[in-house]
Amino acid sequence: MYNAEQLAQDLIRPEISALHAYHVQAAQGMVKLDAMENPYPLPAALQAELGELLAQAAMNRYPAPDAPSLQQALRTAMDIAPEWDILLGNGSDELIQILAMALAKPNACLMSVEPSFVMYKMIAKFCNLDYIGVPLQADFSLDLNAMLAVIEAQQPALIFLSYPNNPTGNLFDAAAIEAILRASQGVVVVDEAYHVFAGESFLPRLAEFPNLLVMRTLSKLGLAGLRLGFLVGAPAWIRQLDKVRLPYNINVLTQIAATHILQRSDILQTQADILLAERALMQQALAALPHARVFASRANFILMQIPQATEIFVALKAQNILIKCLHGAHPLLENTLRVTIGSPAENQQLLHALHTILIKG
Ligand SMILES: *Cc1c(COP(=O)(O)O)cnc(C)c1O
Repeated sequence: MYNAEQLAQDLIRPEISALHAYHVQAAQGMVKLDAMENPYPLPAALQAELGELLAQAAMNRYPAPDAPSLQQALRTAMDIAPEWDILLGNGSDELIQILAMALAKPNACLMSVEPSFVMYKMIAKFCNLDYIGVPLQADFSLDLNAMLAVIEAQQPALIFLSYPNNPTGNLFDAAAIEAILRASQGVVVVDEAYHVFAGESFLPRLAEFPNLLVMRTLSKLGLAGLRLGFLVGAPAWIRQLDKVRLPYNINVLTQIAATHILQRSDILQTQADILLAERALMQQALAALPHARVFASRANFILMQIPQATEIFVALKAQNILIKCLHGAHPLLENTLRVTIGSPAENQQLLHALHTILIKG
């Protein structure tokens, strides 16, 4: 007689058994600077409007399958030209999965760089795609020659480039990305999750490259809880990918809330502007810590290298401040910590705690 443990062991694909589930740190009651969330709630007036709208939502009905109002609101807020189509995802994570499922021919491979966003590799495994992670150079720039060699030898069906890159914070050289787009016969997805903080985009360049798709999300912009990502590209691509999307993947509450908030996207932009000013201040303040090396960031987080990173992470946690320790995640991330830019008060709390830990001992 088998027990469930043995059965699961036998039946689950070995590459799934070997995975660790995506780890989310417990954060109840903590200053949360670990997940690139926007620290600000919506203004009270907008909250009240949403309360009314959401109370009237037809929760007994399935949502609109293509969410046309939401698509229109995105087009306007993000300046998406009419010649491109949009695919909506339950977070951009779901879009990565849709792309991987649709392109996973036998022996196909997915290429990205390392260190980068861990979901590219995880989703490759979920979908039985071979995964190739080309190491970044020591300064976190693309190793273009190594990437072109992989493209030539393996012809990846799918390439993901986080622009700017998580967790390093830098924007890759646009000319290197162009070279990859030209060399690749597969799809190249430029993941612009941090677009609002970077100000650079491949969206205006879609017409130049038939294999380019641009992915964005509302998560880092202040709406992580709504789970809404979107992929922009030629209708020929979006039409095919849309077949893999599960019906009704964007729930009715998300559709209504996002559509309404996007009409006031100036509010989110104002919040982002405060975070950008804070990023500059934090860059300086962190660099002034003893033995700290701070990497320039184009996103809403800062990566820093500092001796005893793990101990500092633990000491901050004991003071109820949660950041991300990346020590051990990749050789280039030795003794690194990733700090999300919070509100001015939260950032001060972090700096104060760091001073206590590092200077007062
Ligand atoms: C946070 C993040 C995402 C995921 O965003 P969701 O829309 O919340 O799923 C995608 N790509 C990168 C690079 C990220 O950092």
